[in-house]
Amino acid sequence: MLKLKPGVITGDALVELFTYCKKVDAALPAVNVIGSHGANAAMAAAKEAKAPVIIQFSHTGSQFYGGKTLDNAAHAASIAGAVSGALHVRTLAKVYGVPVILHTDHCAKKLLPWVDGVLAAGEEYFAKNGEPLFSSHMLDLSEQPLEENLEISRKYLQRMAKMKMTLEIELGVTGGEEDGVDNSGVEHDKLYTSPEDVLRAYDVLGPVGSFTVAASFGNTHGVYAPGNVKLKPPILRDSQEHVKKERKTGDEPLNFVFHGGSGSTPEEISEAVSYGVVKMNIDTDTQWAFTHPIKQFMDDKGAYLKSQLGNPEGPDKPNKKYIDPRGWVHLGEKGMTARLVQAFKELGAFGKFEF
Ligand SMILES: [Zn+2]
Repeated sequence: MLKLKPGVITGDALVELFTYCKKVDAALPAVNVIGSHGANAAMAAAKEAKAPVIIQFSHTGSQFYGGKTLDNAAHAASIAGAVSGALHVRTLAKVYGVPVILHTDHCAKKLLPWVDGVLAAGEEYFAKNGEPLFSSHMLDLSEQPLEENLEISRKYLQRMAKMKMTLEIELGVTGGEEDGVDNSGVEHDKLYTSPEDVLRAYDVLGPVGSFTVAASFGNTHGVYAPGNVKLKPPILRDSQEHVKKERKTGDEPLNFVFHGGSGSTPEEISEAVSYGVVKMNIDTDTQWAFTHPIKQFMDDKGAYLKSQLGNPEGPDKPNKKYIDPRGWVHLGEKGMTARLVQAFKELGAFGKFEF
């Protein structure tokens, strides 16, 4: 069993962790959070599952973490929000006693100044503490031609490798819609990454530093009724074998990321994990797990939430205990934690770590 220290995992320890995950056929859930309640629910899940959790912030999620009314000119709110979220997790991960990987989600070309700002904060943190603020960042340049995608990614990885950070890139396009990015109309062949593109990424980024690949194998953001886009996890296996054969590496030279894990069956998940997926993003399912118990509460206690005074028990009865948001926010947190524990089990990570 891999022994981990509570707190944020960075550098070589993260590389070792991903290698171990492939060895034991496990992947870690990466959950998008938009506030401290989600981050705390994720850390509670890591504690229950005895496994490290990946906490990630999207561009708009970071802005929301800072506060939706903040001006986001020059991405100021998204930068400050991501930094504040990271510091929140850094403060509390040790108190929860759990290892956490801190990550930022999709960053398209027009959002690069956001990651620039977060990296600048990370470099400042590194100068003081000898480790980066975040464990890893994602760049999503999948809308760019392959060579441009890899050239920009290489420059960022050069900067990040100085702090031993990991870079996640995207090859091919994740279908569906998330955070206002709508790929639901993308042509079908773009939804499947080719092993040749993965080899090219390996050649360009491998010599520079640690990287993971969000490869497209028919996965989509969001949960939809079964449609005509088919999940084809063997694309991941074929890509591993192509790189192994062409560059004479050991087994599974690549670390894959599964975007759009929500709505996937346990069989699809374990097949993808068996081909070297080390991280699975989950957002829509945890959003649902947070929101649904709150809806239930509002429905059940509706008669106690019409006014501050007066409910079915009497016209002067106070409703304070139903109004206090801690009561129902915690129901959302518990729902989210339970859904993440289920994800740890489906990903084969439950109980496979010591800390
Ligand atoms: Zn994604």
